[in-house]
Amino acid sequence: MQLYQEQPIKIYNTLSGTKELFQPINAGHVGMYVCGPTVYSNVHLGNVRTFMSFDVVFRYLKHLGYKVRYVRNITDAGHLENDEDAGEDKITKKARLEQIEPMEVVQRYTVDFHNILNTFNFLSPSIEPTATGHIIEQIELISTIIDNGYAYEVNGSVYFDVHKFNETHDYGKLSKRKLEDLVHNTRELDGQSDKKNPQDFALWKKAEPQHIMRWPSPWSDGFPGWHLECTAMSTKYLGEQFDIHGGGMDLKFPHHECEIAQNEAAKGVSPVNYWMHANMLQLNGQRMSKSTGNTINPDELLSGNNSIFTKAYAPSVIRFFNAQSSYRSVLDLTDDGLLASEKGFYRLMDAVNLLEELKPSETSTLDIKTWKQTCYDAMNDDFNSPILIAHLFEAAKYIHQIKEGLETVSSEDLALLKNTIHRFVFDVLGLENTTKNESGTDKLSGAISVLITLRQEARANKDFALSDKIRNELAAVGIQLKDGKDGTTFSVN
Ligand code: AMP
Ligand code: ZN
Repeated sequence: MQLYQEQPIKIYNTLSGTKELFQPINAGHVGMYVCGPTVYSNVHLGNVRTFMSFDVVFRYLKHLGYKVRYVRNITDAGHLENDEDAGEDKITKKARLEQIEPMEVVQRYTVDFHNILNTFNFLSPSIEPTATGHIIEQIELISTIIDNGYAYEVNGSVYFDVHKFNETHDYGKLSKRKLEDLVHNTRELDGQSDKKNPQDFALWKKAEPQHIMRWPSPWSDGFPGWHLECTAMSTKYLGEQFDIHGGGMDLKFPHHECEIAQNEAAKGVSPVNYWMHANMLQLNGQRMSKSTGNTINPDELLSGNNSIFTKAYAPSVIRFFNAQSSYRSVLDLTDDGLLASEKGFYRLMDAVNLLEELKPSETSTLDIKTWKQTCYDAMNDDFNSPILIAHLFEAAKYIHQIKEGLETVSSEDLALLKNTIHRFVFDVLGLENTTKNESGTDKLSGAISVLITLRQEARANKDFALSDKIRNELAAVGIQLKDGKDGTTFSVN
């Protein structure tokens, strides 16, 4: 008997707009795809939030005993500026600006992405396919869509015929849009004149002479459309129909809507049974986004090296902060919110550590079995981690009461309490047991601040030998000081 047989989950499905009982296609197995990053710049905390929410989903499904195949791709080609069909490729643009190869850009930011995920204690997905590694599959898919009459070629580019598709299918069913309204609201953009209709989207683009990332195809030397990549990679590893597809809310339209259309056009079936969308992270009330500059990178938050927050925060504090709100709610990253989460996180860790000191009694005055089920009920209700955390705090209260002799637990119940807390805190929420004094980040930034002040004093006294020594010796241990107009900041390599 596996846990999932006793613990049915409900998932909020964007497609139906309701919470549905989760029934995987193959009993005991789950296929899950999440749109990964486009690796043209450092990931910001908004990106991290989405992946973190799905990391908890992955962890909980595994905890329940499902055999999960979790595919999260890397977009390393075909994603154009402003998510549109015209303009420069995001990766090529970065390569041009930095005068390096596009694949150097891809390598650099893929490594950065993986480092950040490790710092935050993410589980690795089962497969992490790249768009450039699946060009053949994408070309095959385009040929099928053309053969089925839902795409057309113009001047070496291939476009999906949204209007033709909508005659027999429902384009807009995921994002709840109507094609008539889209027609009404779309403006004609320069460079899209090849399309029959502005709502059509590119499956294959002929490369301009200066476009470096290009592959031969029956239509032109070119590159695949961004939406097509995810259809090719998800169905290759999970089948024409699979269980869960996730991503940030901003991808619902057009990206995910187009994925549905492509799969229905190519294979005649809707690809995904449960569409899950994580809501956006805001920074001080505004959506976090690279393009507006309202953004903070994980290392800036972890090191305290930023002008937004009063201090550095440990990775598990940030994980805890994220889990304290539902993945479907907007979450605002503020200093007050992080400080409150930090306090709560260490309070929970203190209780977890205190568990080891508890002694069992003959009988229990607490109903640990019922408490345990409330934890499962929370997660079974669309992965409601804030409610789970409320139940974990309830357990923290029990732990103190048992310690003080106000309540008792039998040895069986004590083992159950311990095991349940460990499973949810470490396996499901992915938290790491850092106690405040050991976390290091606060102390490190405090110590570096002292050195920065000493260096400023040395410079004021014209003791440049000492000020250089402080800078160079910090650099030798991987701590870079940067002098800017607002003072000196540091980064840790
Ligand atoms: P991108 O690299 O821009 O394609 O984004 C990677 C993932 O991060 C996608 O699933 C986006 O939906 C998600 N994302 C981007 N901005 C935010 C944000 N402010 N909050 C949460 N998720 C975001
Ligand atoms: Zn995608």
